[in-house]
Amino acid sequence: MSRETVISVGHGKNQAGKYDPGAVSGDKKYHEHRIAGRIAKYASDYLQCDLINYDGSRNLPERIKDVNAGDYGFAAEIHLNAGGGTGTETFYYHGSPTGRRAADEICRNVSAALNVRDRGAKTRLNAQGKDYFGFIRQTKPCAVLVESVFIDCGSDLDKVKTEQGAKTCGEAIAKGIENALAENTRYEVAERAVCVRSGAGEEFPVRRRLLKGEKFTVTVTAKRGRWGKLDDGSGWVNLESGCRRVKK
Ligand SMILES: [Zn+2]
Repeated sequence: MSRETVISVGHGKNQAGKYDPGAVSGDKKYHEHRIAGRIAKYASDYLQCDLINYDGSRNLPERIKDVNAGDYGFAAEIHLNAGGGTGTETFYYHGSPTGRRAADEICRNVSAALNVRDRGAKTRLNAQGKDYFGFIRQTKPCAVLVESVFIDCGSDLDKVKTEQGAKTCGEAIAKGIENALAENTRYEVAERAVCVRSGAGEEFPVRRRLLKGEKFTVTVTAKRGRWGKLDDGSGWVNLESGCRRVKK
């Protein structure tokens, strides 16, 4: 199964094709879709993974179709909560241990990074006993829906409305996903030295090199499994550039 993650942005377009802001702040200045988009962008940058609906061009059925058309192992859609409350919570596919672990890790990381209440991993079912959220119910990979913080709570909104706040939140979500999905696969440099780069692509700068015979551990992969992120966080390696898998 694919280990690749995809991040989706909630709202932006409704089923009639009109702009759907999602929830809005009390002063109407902040829209859920726009803040979720920036949080999601930082999460996908951190994980070097695909991002859906950043521009608000995909409604929910289209986003679900996008997720199911890709060979993804995990999907997370980013939202902001509303309705009077504070803190962070994440919904997961009921009965999924991976979903539960990811939801727990995301909440723990966001709560710590933003210093907001951890409302925890949750499931929500409809009257038929199926998962309430279409993004969780109708997507093929293990899926979670992240309610980052409450947009209608002033102190919560303050934490994510700035660029730095969105970055902190997005990276915390990404680290939670990374922790939950880490498989810790061991590799060895087989032929010649390989570059450790700052991102998953030859266009990213080289941070250091691994020499022939050196072993390393990969936690997550990106770009269809071609790039692996080192467990010490030092960067990304092209796994097809002369590396081979070895036993732990
Ligand atoms: Zn929403």
